[in-house]
Amino acid sequence: MNERVLVTGSSGFIGGHLVQYLKALGFWVRGVDIKKSPWWDTGPDEFIRLDLRYRENAVEAVQDIDWIFALAADMGGMGFITDPHCRSAILYNNTMINFNTLEAAEWAGVKRYLFTSSVCIYPTNKLDRTDVAPLQEEDAYPALPQETYGWEKLHAEHLCLAYGKEYPIKTRIVRLQNTYGPKGTWKGGREKAPAALSRKIATAKLYGEPTVEVWGDGKATRSFMYVDDCVRGLHAAILSNYPYPITLGPDRVIDINNLVDILVDIAGVDIDVVHVDGPQGVRGRNFDHKRARNILGWKPLVSLEVGMEKTYRWVERQVLEEGLC
Ligand code: NAD
Repeated sequence: MNERVLVTGSSGFIGGHLVQYLKALGFWVRGVDIKKSPWWDTGPDEFIRLDLRYRENAVEAVQDIDWIFALAADMGGMGFITDPHCRSAILYNNTMINFNTLEAAEWAGVKRYLFTSSVCIYPTNKLDRTDVAPLQEEDAYPALPQETYGWEKLHAEHLCLAYGKEYPIKTRIVRLQNTYGPKGTWKGGREKAPAALSRKIATAKLYGEPTVEVWGDGKATRSFMYVDDCVRGLHAAILSNYPYPITLGPDRVIDINNLVDILVDIAGVDIDVVHVDGPQGVRGRNFDHKRARNILGWKPLVSLEVGMEKTYRWVERQVLEEGLC
């Protein structure tokens, strides 16, 4: 545990959990983010508020660091990444963050660098059915990623591959499936389906509303990874000797209507679902996790029911506290 570790995006959802995880293992951790964390009382050993779109800030962030977990990103759920007013900002901001951070890391002699890519890099034309067969990492090509978010992630994967080949820095790449848990974005337009549905159901329960709205027909299929499993996977990936992308997530695939059923059970309410127009993303997602299982020896440990229970309870508390303000 002698490595000095930098987590970029440390005030974000996964970054906040990762900082806690690394601290519990005994690492010295620096956090860098454009904003302060809204959730955690105990943060990293050192926090520097920096905008990583600027090269000089990236240079400051990486000084005297051995490992970097590169999580900083301008990101959000389907409502955000498909918003026609956000596409250029997502592409520009994340490209600048990714390029500056990796270039600064290489100059500074950082030993290991983990980039958090996304399953949004997989070709949308291979994800056009609810019962899509599991895609392997190499199925990313020929490329047709989802939105500018998917393109900038794929581009940054290639940056990592090229730097890792040409320089001593050991770059590692994970493609994360939809990650959920407490202390994530739960309102405001950037939240993802698990948090958004938890908020809608909690609001309906607390305010006695008889219905919740679900975007689309609810038949789109997804896998959901609990955040504790995710941060364990990030740690395993940075330690590995494998430089190519690895998809992290559970094998279980469910549709959005099933997710609603699980949350309604947890909330203990009787609510009708109203399907409304809204961005739904690709029709199906299903990924093969042999690389994660065989190369990292990693698999998720938290069931969807247990993870959703923790997530729902946390979101319900936020809804309640906000209502009391
Ligand atoms: P998040 O939005 O909660 O965290 C990202 C953090 O980056 C935020 O705290 C934000 O303030 C920070 N940031 C944004 N712009 C910055 C800048 N210019 N300089 C410095 N910091 C900046 O997102 P998250 O869910 O924690 O995701 C972490 C990483 O994992 C991201 O790269 C994301 O693309 C990737 N990812 C997440 C998921 C998921 O389901 N949560 C899925 C696939 C990939």
